[in-house]
Amino acid sequence: MSSPLPRETRVVIVGGGIIGCSVAYHLTSLGWKDVVLLEQNQLAGGTTWHAAGLVGRLRTTNSMTKINKYSAELYAGLEKKTGHSVGWKQVGSLIVAKSEDRMIQLRRTAAISEWFGVEVQMIGAEEAKAKWPLLRVDDVLGAAWLPHDGKVIPKEVAVALAKGAQSRGATMIENARVLEVEHADGRATGVKTEQGSIKAEFVVLCGGMWTRELGLRCGVTIPLYPVEHHYVVTEPIEGAFDGLPVGRDPDLCLYFRGEGNAVVLGAFQAESKPWMVERVPDRFSFQLLEPDWEKFAEPLKNAKWRIPALQTCRFEKFVNGPESFTPDNNFIMGEAPELRNLFVAAGFNSVGIASAGGAGKYLAEWMVEGQPTLDLWSVDIRRFGSWANNREYLRARVVEILGLHYQPAWPNREFETARGIRKTPLHDRLAAQGACFGVKNGWERPNWFARDGIRPVVEYSFGRQNWFDCHAAEHRAARENVAVFDQTGFSKYVVQGRDAVGVLQRLCGNNVNVPVGKTVYTGLFNERGGFESDLTLVRLAAEEFYLISGTAQTWRDLEWIKRNIRRDEHAEVADVTSAFGVLGVMGPNARGLLSRVTDANLSNDAFPFGTVREISVGQATARAIRITYVGELGWELHVPTEQLAPVYDTLMAAGNDLGVTNAGHYAINSLRLEKGYRAWGAELSPDDNPLEAGLAFAVAWDKAFIGREALLKAKSTELTRRLVVFVLKDSRPMLWGSEPIYCNGRAVGYTTSGSYGHTVGAAIAMGYVNNTAGVTPEFIRSGRFEIGVAGERCAAAAHLAPPYDPKRARILV
Ligand SMILES: Cc1cc2nc3c(=O)[nH]c(=O)nc-3n(C[C@H](O)[C@H](O)[C@H](O)COP(=O)(O)OP(=O)(O)OC[C@H]3O[C@@H](n4cnc5c(N)ncnc54)[C@H](O)[C@@H]3O)c2cc1C
Repeated sequence: MSSPLPRETRVVIVGGGIIGCSVAYHLTSLGWKDVVLLEQNQLAGGTTWHAAGLVGRLRTTNSMTKINKYSAELYAGLEKKTGHSVGWKQVGSLIVAKSEDRMIQLRRTAAISEWFGVEVQMIGAEEAKAKWPLLRVDDVLGAAWLPHDGKVIPKEVAVALAKGAQSRGATMIENARVLEVEHADGRATGVKTEQGSIKAEFVVLCGGMWTRELGLRCGVTIPLYPVEHHYVVTEPIEGAFDGLPVGRDPDLCLYFRGEGNAVVLGAFQAESKPWMVERVPDRFSFQLLEPDWEKFAEPLKNAKWRIPALQTCRFEKFVNGPESFTPDNNFIMGEAPELRNLFVAAGFNSVGIASAGGAGKYLAEWMVEGQPTLDLWSVDIRRFGSWANNREYLRARVVEILGLHYQPAWPNREFETARGIRKTPLHDRLAAQGACFGVKNGWERPNWFARDGIRPVVEYSFGRQNWFDCHAAEHRAARENVAVFDQTGFSKYVVQGRDAVGVLQRLCGNNVNVPVGKTVYTGLFNERGGFESDLTLVRLAAEEFYLISGTAQTWRDLEWIKRNIRRDEHAEVADVTSAFGVLGVMGPNARGLLSRVTDANLSNDAFPFGTVREISVGQATARAIRITYVGELGWELHVPTEQLAPVYDTLMAAGNDLGVTNAGHYAINSLRLEKGYRAWGAELSPDDNPLEAGLAFAVAWDKAFIGREALLKAKSTELTRRLVVFVLKDSRPMLWGSEPIYCNGRAVGYTTSGSYGHTVGAAIAMGYVNNTAGVTPEFIRSGRFEIGVAGERCAAAAHLAPPYDPKRARILV
């Protein structure tokens, strides 16, 4: 496959692994034929050729499951379409559990899978043995069986996809190394190779573990790092056969499958080994790293327990292959915020074979449509800022990532490695007062504060965790007295210029042309009417706005706003997140506390809800915004970062006798759920519209904005999907999100967030209820709702209005 390089093409794909080939396949199937794929060595010679070929369908989110399901369906029919065999075998997957927590996890998985459209059956230990006769099951409590999963020969999938793409006009060129991406005016314009340059309208980086370097050379952040991943292949064993299911024993960190009459045995150990290499060598093709039997000793010991036939067999092959991992175990995909028309699909965290079909399809659709056709936030390249691209940080973090595939999927699990790289000025003060921190977008955020002799360390479980009572105290403090929250990680931007109003009117669903000093809550929509973001906007001056959105969204929102400012418009957006610290002062005594430290008039008349003022706080000056995300009287104080600590100290000293309480993000979550406040990334996504989300009140229908057409169309039809708040009738269980919702015994959706509502006195969650015949208020009122909790169904009260209403000071349960 070495043709001469063309001088020009529409799309250049860099990298001929399974991902690059899939992107080429799907772009050409959407009619973009002018596609050139450049591979520095041979197709599939990077990581793809030595993968174990496991293709599982079920992932943790609906979108990711759609991606994998599509891959499996594609591979099953790929030979027919391309004439090239890919070795697809639908052998099924078997996941065994030897601990009660793992059983709960499997039951949770099985329950949600129904809604995701993946068949999962819970079976007993003996049934598991019947499916994998070489297994020892005396310590197995049960298993999950996924009959439609399968396996492939990864290299052949890449080749088949390449052939399919070629048959529709794509050109594949091997031994063509891309040196760098060429760009001008903030836009990719082509690539420079060892053999000359190619001009292109689009460049797609699918360079596996080489992709970070390619990104660095053109100023694009692609945080990934290679890690060693190990599997071994036995000699033929009696009783092993090719049709054995793909087995997984996550408690022992193992996977195993048949290969002919041998067994392939792989490990996802909790602590893995980064490849200690200065730079990934260019010519690393169809190569492996040295076997590491020492590192494999523990998995091998465990495997000999689980599959006794391994005790006496010889191992004929040790595969030590490097694969790229990202800081959060999700791959990286989409258009780079730094360069228009530069797309990326890389960092597949050991699931690149199972994901390649879907990832290629949705990336191709993204390119052709100009926006994602599915909620791809969990893999969106815009979730990382440059802070995440530090090599030392990556090397430290990836140690933990590979093993996550098999670690218990605790609902609120926090990363343990590479912590503490983004701290607010209050960090040490809060730590000294018992803060237990979580991490979001790199920011260390207090989740809860230890009290009554409890250590500030989470003891994970699917039920109530050790912080339950601490959380209750913080939740009540905000409801009944006054609490202070460090919300510094919130994303903040300034939009200004002569055309700022016009730009924001086009971007925002709500009317932003409000008097100076007022705030507006609004959604930012895509052409489909889905939420690209939701934020609070403060009009600071005629031509200046201050915008506040969630902690995770900084670069995504920034990019979305930037891309929607036309060249002829006089408006600029700047990220000012790090310039301001934020303290939420919330609760019925918030006014009482703040009045002690400011000379500003905080009365309702002088400082009504939804307005902003500069006020003194002790000797400092703060931008005080009268808004709340917890449903109580309160102010958010936006303070220059260097004054955050003095403002905090002033407040805490002044509120000592009032009983002012430090509170964390777990309390914010439960408080906002009781008040029915939605969160972007949970209740709101590019696939959810404001009518379904119950936020139509925040849309100004009489003005033009992006997404209006789609929303007007949606408005004229009956809603078949609606966001509902649920409160369990039993006060004991916990809800975390991702639990199935049943109406009259039928699955109708799943929860998007969950917590424990200490004011309503039970677990609380939100989730979309779906019904093709319509989801009317009557449907909600009359339905018998249940939420699946670890395999059990628990009765729940369903609310369209918030279950807690502070104005009416009553609980509507
Ligand atoms: C031991 C092991 C077992 C695995 N088992 C499974 C499994 O069972 N199931 C599963 O889903 N996943 C598995 N994986 C993961 C899977 O192999 C990868 O996620 C997948 O192959 C990644 O594909 P890719 O196309 O991104 O990368 P690659 O296959 O590495 O392809 C990238 C290509 O880009 C080329 N390239 C890079 N830079 C340039 C440049 N500058 N110019 C031109 N070309 C360039 C490289 O030469 C390379 O060929 C496994 C991984 C390992 C290591």
